[in-house]
Amino acid sequence: MPPFPDFSSQPPDPKGALIQAENQCRQRGSRLTELRRRVLEIIWNSPTPLGAYAILDVLRADGRPGAPPTVYRALDFLLGEGLIHRLASLNVFTGCRQPGHEHGGQFLICRDCGQVDELGNQVVDDLLRAEAETRNFEMLAQMVEILGRCPDCRRGALPHVG
Ligand SMILES: [Zn+2]
Ligand SMILES: [Zn+2]
Repeated sequence: MPPFPDFSSQPPDPKGALIQAENQCRQRGSRLTELRRRVLEIIWNSPTPLGAYAILDVLRADGRPGAPPTVYRALDFLLGEGLIHRLASLNVFTGCRQPGHEHGGQFLICRDCGQVDELGNQVVDDLLRAEAETRNFEMLAQMVEILGRCPDCRRGALPHVG
């Protein structure tokens, strides 16, 4: 039995993610308003992480009179609930593959196509925490963002065989 489940092998499933978000918010008594739900849906429906203004564009295409503060408030809520992550290096948002438990998150970000894969490796989390503690550093948040090239882009870049 592997010591930790490999969450990254689970393909993103927008429908499942929304149902999970609804259940989680109901359990915690937090309000997943229609707008917050729609913002989460937009993020999950996108093949690559989105910035706030890209989300705003989709909301406006829905016919909503969206303003940036509205979107930022919805994003803050979703971040607070652990339903999404913010990738600081790109200032974009991606759906969390394993909401409902406290974690920082390790991300493989493709430089070429922008796809992001979230790793759920508790060993890495614990190791970073321990390293910080030995330096008497109080860790408040933990994000590991690894820039590189995804399998699809690597395959596309290989010389044609056959
Ligand atoms: Zn996550
Ligand atoms: Zn790629």
